[in-house]
Amino acid sequence: MNLVLVVNAGSSSLKYQLLNMDGETVIAKGNCDRIGVDGHLSHKVPATGYVLEQDCPFPTHTEAFEKLVEVLTTGEAKVIDSMSEISAVGHRIVQGAEIFDRACMVTEDVINQIDALSELAPVHNHPHALALRACTKVLPAGTPQVVVFDTAFHQTMPPKAYMFGLPYDDYKNYHVRKYGFHGTSHRFVSAALAEAMGRDIKDLKIVSCHLGNGSSITAVDGGKSVDTSMGFTPLDGILMGTRCGSVDPSAVTYVMDKHGFTPREMSDYMNKKSGFLGVSGIGSDNRDIQNAVLDGDEKAILTSDMLQYQIKKYIGAYAAAMNGIDAVIFTGGIGENSWEVREAVCENMEYFGIKIDNELNHKTRGKLTKLSVEGSKVEVWVVPTNEELLIARDTLKLIGK
Ligand code: ADP
Repeated sequence: MNLVLVVNAGSSSLKYQLLNMDGETVIAKGNCDRIGVDGHLSHKVPATGYVLEQDCPFPTHTEAFEKLVEVLTTGEAKVIDSMSEISAVGHRIVQGAEIFDRACMVTEDVINQIDALSELAPVHNHPHALALRACTKVLPAGTPQVVVFDTAFHQTMPPKAYMFGLPYDDYKNYHVRKYGFHGTSHRFVSAALAEAMGRDIKDLKIVSCHLGNGSSITAVDGGKSVDTSMGFTPLDGILMGTRCGSVDPSAVTYVMDKHGFTPREMSDYMNKKSGFLGVSGIGSDNRDIQNAVLDGDEKAILTSDMLQYQIKKYIGAYAAAMNGIDAVIFTGGIGENSWEVREAVCENMEYFGIKIDNELNHKTRGKLTKLSVEGSKVEVWVVPTNEELLIARDTLKLIGK
């Protein structure tokens, strides 16, 4: 077996998948949750259907890794004899800024650089650094580790796409620019699409719509990201579960003033209380919004209309930016499953040469499917994303396997 452990660490969680890269199958997966609070483990072994739910203390990421080693190597969930059977560990890192334009091997220097980027991604990068240090401490010495960055795919954007209209010195001194996120997902689905279409990705212009709790849309020209909807942080772009997406910057200072918010409070307001939740007053989950639409709830209809309209506008903008498009991808929890959102986005897009089979769209969930009809100038596809698999592939490539 050629085993890779993929780790996605947050401030209070450590999600993981153990993959056998010989057949690219998942051997075990789960989440060490509530780190630093109390601690809970959810663990699954897909091959046997074994499921473990257990409260266990996780004061820090170190205890979470120790527990992970325990469940993988002992007891009923055991899938390996020892962690030395694992070829490498691949870590998902949110912010690599301009330092990391590709995946790389973990060294003490790299961990320090990731930690130093915490200023740009306080919620993510410091916990990543903590998890990297914990992993290094708990796993057998010499286990190769690789970091794969959400931002790296977007490092090919030209300055005209990533610069903001703020004084240039703030870019130079404070690194204020668009970075873009979900890069691993956009890279995975655009490559998978090219393969499904039987085309060389170098010849394709793709708009990749990753729609989940967090959503971003990317223009992929010849396999490279040339523009993307998320910005300096994952708050920019289209309406999301609890994030507002783009708003007039003056509305931000105005609302701060009206509510008497500190910058942190304003950030919470835009990141956690806005989006579907804030507009609809119902919740952050697309399913709840779509159900309320069926009940005729006006704010749910508005929320849904806003989402669809904003996605349409990005498709139009990126078609203009790339001088045309060959394909649109829907991915992420909403993109893969919500026929309602896909249908509404693709409606009245004949000008762009988009026409989908509504019946097929209606029944498509989470499966690689071409939705566009014969003769549609632009192909429309559902392409399930798999960031963990791409992280594992990158990891193997870097360690030379
Ligand atoms: P995250 O960004 O946290 O990874 P996901 O990609 O899992 O999130 O997407 C979560 C979103 O997908 C939620 O808004 C959820 O309502 C939506 N979703 C999941 N399944 C369905 C479904 N069957 N129909 C409509 N929306 C769905």
